[in-house]
Amino acid sequence: MKLEEIYKSESPVITFEVFPPKKETSIDELFEHLSVLKRFNPALISVTYGAGGSSRDKSSEIVSRIKSQLGITPMPHFTCVCSSRDFIKDYLMRTEAEGIENILALRGDEPQEIDVCYRDFRYANELVEFIRSQTSLSIAVAAYPECHMDCGDISVDIENLKRKVDAGASVIYTQLFFENGYFFRFMDLLEKASVNIPVVPGVLPVSGYAQLQRMTGMCGARVPDEVDKFFSRYKDDEESIRKAGTEFAIRQSQELLAFGIKGLHFYTLNKSAQICDILDSVL
Ligand code: FAD
Repeated sequence: MKLEEIYKSESPVITFEVFPPKKETSIDELFEHLSVLKRFNPALISVTYGAGGSSRDKSSEIVSRIKSQLGITPMPHFTCVCSSRDFIKDYLMRTEAEGIENILALRGDEPQEIDVCYRDFRYANELVEFIRSQTSLSIAVAAYPECHMDCGDISVDIENLKRKVDAGASVIYTQLFFENGYFFRFMDLLEKASVNIPVVPGVLPVSGYAQLQRMTGMCGARVPDEVDKFFSRYKDDEESIRKAGTEFAIRQSQELLAFGIKGLHFYTLNKSAQICDILDSVL
């Protein structure tokens, strides 16, 4: 089903994100977890993509299996950084030929080790425009409630987000955040900028203190002092921090749903148990 249809739903749309595991054998493990998560009727499962094409084959295999094995709509992520126009066109043609209907169009970050870096596409809005001109895929894009790391001004970042919407994006998925206030302020700014497509917050269930620091360091999301204090109490106690992370994600999701969002996008980290605990409480 296409994104536009999916987000016509009156009830909140549940979606999951997974990534290509490093080990080949873990793809089967990933599908065991996804089979468990299937009971929540996810509208789609998105699959990340290594910028520059590093995980392309595994991402494509997972996308195909989500469709054929689970009967769930897949949404491949795709980055344009360092890729040539021909490569991108070929990827898009193959994706459509496989019957994939949606794509998350991203710029990505330039990989540190790459032989040749093409400059055919500089920003994601150019990729959105290209996908729109070459295919009938429905297009999602990324957004950053706390502002993208390369951009010092949220209003400029929103102007750039608007370029992606004007180029043909149908849905926005956000970076993870730990303070709903950032998201609410962002929604206010989007309304003022007349961005009217569905905005779906990304929720990361915390399952370890080191993981929290690593992931927020990578994506630039802030950990407010009170959130840090909340989790740092359980630093070395895996079971307690997982429990605290579950409780935190339940509260965060309930508050977001009360605000009236169109859906929740869970960063599953390729696991199911914690997501089950959260959704059993939230839905
Ligand atoms: P853009 O929208 O191009 O924005 C990048 C920066 O450039 C911003 O600072 C923006 O303000 C600025 N900018 C945008 N357009 C213009 C313009 N026309 N002129 C001047 N400045 C401009 N990365 C991966 O490698 N693989 C993934 O699978 C992946 N999945 C993601 C999923 C989600 C939901 C999110 C939120 C991020 C994901 N990322 C992924 C990370 C993403 O690739 C990085 O955050 C990247 O730095 C920006 O990508 P973008 O598509 O948001 O870029």
